[in-house]
Amino acid sequence: MNFYTTILGSGAALPTVARHCSGQMVNVNGFRILLDCGENTQTQINIYRQRLQSFTHICITHLHGDHFFGLPGLVSSMHLCGRKTPLDIYAPAGIAHAMTTLMEVSGSHIDFDIRYHELTHTEGCILQFENDLCRIHAFPLIHSVPTYGYLIEEKPRGKNPVRRYAYCTDTAYTETILPYIQGVNLLCLESTFNNAFAPIAAEKLHCTTSQAATLALKAEAKQLLLTHISARYKEPELLLAEATAIFPNTLLAADGTQFEVHY
Ligand SMILES: [Zn+2]
Ligand SMILES: [Zn+2]
Repeated sequence: MNFYTTILGSGAALPTVARHCSGQMVNVNGFRILLDCGENTQTQINIYRQRLQSFTHICITHLHGDHFFGLPGLVSSMHLCGRKTPLDIYAPAGIAHAMTTLMEVSGSHIDFDIRYHELTHTEGCILQFENDLCRIHAFPLIHSVPTYGYLIEEKPRGKNPVRRYAYCTDTAYTETILPYIQGVNLLCLESTFNNAFAPIAAEKLHCTTSQAATLALKAEAKQLLLTHISARYKEPELLLAEATAIFPNTLLAADGTQFEVHY
């Protein structure tokens, strides 16, 4: 059974040629979920051959621009390409107001239903969606605006144990999330900065490489995937080296790469 994520954007706030703003397409046995929608995500969807109309669920972590400024353009293109299928969008409170305002002032007409599911809980890992193939849960992270991590869990099929994928960005180091991500098969965590920038990471409520690796270790994750890499790193192998010193089974996201959620 397939369970993998395609990286559409692995950069932090400032997009570069090499790394676009946050976006991932998760495929759980054919069911696709878009995680975050930074600027240019729709172009990345085309470049990396993820069909525009192939997904019905979008999960936005928070309303910083590098995670949702691509959404109005994406929705508009879906309409122009003739979409009739409803779209479910999960995001912190404010998303419906932001989107409807943009659509109104731009005179955009969207000819399909958009159902906004606004997240407001301040603790717990709460089920948001469930179908025959998977469950999607959301849990709060620690950042400068309300922010949620997502836990995607496949449904049991035959004798196979279920695999789980956790997506956590943006967040300061916090052990409050450990119960939600305990033992996940693949843990995608932001690591905007390397260790030398620890004071800036703390001030801006982001993680360093070592903090991400420490969380993976404490959560007993099977594998760690680093993302949300600052544009300052021209040689991101430095980040990988710092993380693997603490948690050896660490991978580094790059735009266009795919990572399987292994058993
Ligand atoms: Zn960000
Ligand atoms: Zn942010």
